[in-house]
Amino acid sequence: PKAKPRVVYWFRTDLRLHDSPALAAALELKPSVLYPIWTWDPHYVYRARVGPNRWKFLLDCQSDLSTSITELNPKSKLFLIREAPQTLFPKLFKEWKITHLVFEKDTDAYARDRDAEVMQIAKDAGVQVIVKMGRTLYDPDALVQHNHGKPTMSMSQVQAAGKQIGDIARPIPAPTSLPDPGETTLSFAQEKPGPEPDINAIQRDGNEASYSSLAGPNGDFAVPTMEELGLKEATTLHRGGETIALDMLSAIIKNESYTATFEKPKTAPTAFSPQATTLLSPHMHFGSLSCREFYWRVQDVVDAYKKAGKHASEPPTSLTGQLLFRDMYFGAQAKLGYAFGQTYGNPQCRFIPWHLPSEIDTATGLITGRYLTDNATAESYFLRWKEGRTGFPWIDALMRQLRLEGWIHHLGRHAVASFLTRGGCYVDWERGAEVFEEWLIDHEAACNIGNWQWLSCTAFFSQFYRVYSPVAFPAKWDKEGAFVRRYVPELARFDKKYIYEPWKAPIADQKAWGCVIRGDGVKSEEGEYRVYPKPMFDFATQREVCIQGLKNAYKVGLHGNDAKVLDGTWRKL
Ligand code: FAD
Repeated sequence: PKAKPRVVYWFRTDLRLHDSPALAAALELKPSVLYPIWTWDPHYVYRARVGPNRWKFLLDCQSDLSTSITELNPKSKLFLIREAPQTLFPKLFKEWKITHLVFEKDTDAYARDRDAEVMQIAKDAGVQVIVKMGRTLYDPDALVQHNHGKPTMSMSQVQAAGKQIGDIARPIPAPTSLPDPGETTLSFAQEKPGPEPDINAIQRDGNEASYSSLAGPNGDFAVPTMEELGLKEATTLHRGGETIALDMLSAIIKNESYTATFEKPKTAPTAFSPQATTLLSPHMHFGSLSCREFYWRVQDVVDAYKKAGKHASEPPTSLTGQLLFRDMYFGAQAKLGYAFGQTYGNPQCRFIPWHLPSEIDTATGLITGRYLTDNATAESYFLRWKEGRTGFPWIDALMRQLRLEGWIHHLGRHAVASFLTRGGCYVDWERGAEVFEEWLIDHEAACNIGNWQWLSCTAFFSQFYRVYSPVAFPAKWDKEGAFVRRYVPELARFDKKYIYEPWKAPIADQKAWGCVIRGDGVKSEEGEYRVYPKPMFDFATQREVCIQGLKNAYKVGLHGNDAKVLDGTWRKL
């Protein structure tokens, strides 16, 4: 008789036990042993931009998952192995006599390459691979296929493709037991336990070879701590893990009217503790919450509401609509691959000569026009935006919340992304996307890139003349300025009349309120007063500069595969 399967279950985008089609497939094999593992992928550990807050969220998710596994089988847990999957698996398959490798499908550009390599390694080792979709409502590749082979660039395309694919599957329950893991020797590693690699040092020195022990400092495959990894302490209070995610979802679902009538454009970006939207995005990113669980528990409330004759919201503004947006960006990324992540080479992304001369000589393909914003000015705009010292309290409050907590409301993201790009600074969206990549606890490559393109009017959205005012927009939501007072405490005592335009307050009042408006925000105190910067430009003037720039670029009509920046100018390819 055939030997019973010995299975590695490889956790990646799915740090949960509930509704995991891949885990269910692994268990259907009726394995004699099942190793739940996580591999230390250098691509994410050392090359991606990950700030301490997202690190902490990941470690939280891993710890919670490991505890839940142990609850189902005291002999088991999440085994963290500190080596790249591409080099680890050939050795591990042999040592642990593995017959099957099972994981959730990941359509990120890098992940596809990695998984293709791992599947080849498995094939060479005679190991069967099972891959199941579970990360999005629809398989992104199926969305593309049913969108005539094209990236999904609008909600209506997602809905049309979704209709052809069929109903979104109902979630499946979590397992109630798990098989034992086998022996966990790593004789190939010939190592003794030692300290964790210092991530900061490795990033600084570009040396990835300095893994310490594959099984961690105590040789027990444990989830590392922030200190062990040499990481700065996290400042966010948002915590990761499937247990918390399911509790958060249940609390939301319990509030039936919130769930059934949710309309994204009506949720306040200035609300904090509690925020106005679900804050489930980091759980979606790490897979500590299943998107189908989220979708169906919401949809059931919506259906019951409708059945009772009550009004419920609909996509795209409803809660389920938000999940469809997520699928849209995954569908775009699935088709475009690496090209999706940048302007260069991307046929869907408009080429905007951000802060470069913006008129094109059609004969030579060279730019002859004036600079809208020179390099040094653009760089200083960028830094002041990033550091929350633009002098526009609404923008600065958001950027400070982002750095501190790793999450800001969607319309807050709108405000700062549009301000950096086509609605203020005229700086390239890729610079902003990098900052978000580092600081967001919910950073999802597809969603971050797609939304930055949307807000910069380079793809998905094109109404560049609709610019958010950093004064009128927040005032609509928060007349008192509570949000600004919370995140820009220098202005806490300012009268609400000036809270979004503190530079307009008479100097005597500024002094009476303990903060003077001057300088560029590098200094935060001067004598007996705190200091908050002057606005770094006249918003109305800069708004016009941006609209003109976008108008020109739209007229020229180039995309990322038509033009290229070279030596401080740009040319047609
Ligand atoms: P809710 O409103 O409660 O929505 C529920 C879920 O739907 C979210 O958890 C999320 O998974 C999904 N969702 C909602 N809005 C969007 C959207 N516009 N695009 C994609 N998915 C959405 N979202 C990320 O998950 N990761 C990112 O890296 C990211 N970067 C962004 C960058 C910019 C410039 C902008 C404008 C938006 C970005 N978003 C990103 C989308 C959106 O802002 C967040 O998903 C949302 O604010 C998360 O809060 P929530 O969970 O309370 O959302």
